[in-house]
Amino acid sequence: MSGQSTYRLTFKGRASHSAPVIGESLYLWGGIQPGIILAHDSPQKKKLMSTVETFSFSSARWSSHLTRGTPPLGIAGYSCTTFRSSIYYYAGHCAHDFCFYNSLNVLNTLTMSWTQLHPNDESMMKKANCGMLSLELDGTDYLFIVGGVGATPAVKHPQFQYEQTKSLDVMTNEQLLYNLSKGDF
Ligand SMILES: [Zn+2]
Repeated sequence: MSGQSTYRLTFKGRASHSAPVIGESLYLWGGIQPGIILAHDSPQKKKLMSTVETFSFSSARWSSHLTRGTPPLGIAGYSCTTFRSSIYYYAGHCAHDFCFYNSLNVLNTLTMSWTQLHPNDESMMKKANCGMLSLELDGTDYLFIVGGVGATPAVKHPQFQYEQTKSLDVMTNEQLLYNLSKGDF
């Protein structure tokens, strides 16, 4: 790559984020960034999280996009994967205290709009740093999510392990399968 435009970034520092690729573009959302508001849920946080930075491999340029809808609140350590023209975001944390989420959200990259597919609730462990991918099994499309670390869950599923760590959070081997056509876990 050459040319100054490659290095003229539209964002400052960024950590605990993911940057998935669809087609010829990379999509950068969320993460910890300078000047971030460590609120649990606030209009300012939602406004800041309503921006997605994209990097075009063909033009070698970054650009900033305002999204529609409501972005997820788990801004750091979330898990994400792509499927067709969508990016699926699961769980994550607030970057304050032991505050974790378990909502599933999708960003449609054609309309740059957010939709929540599953809300934060107590049916599953709230966590961050899970593994996540999309896959097809017998003609059905799924999201597969495995592991993670988070808060002590309200419901411990007997087939999985939940182990408290020295830093007082809980590590798990939970495995979740989300059916993309039916829209449920
Ligand atoms: Zn919080």
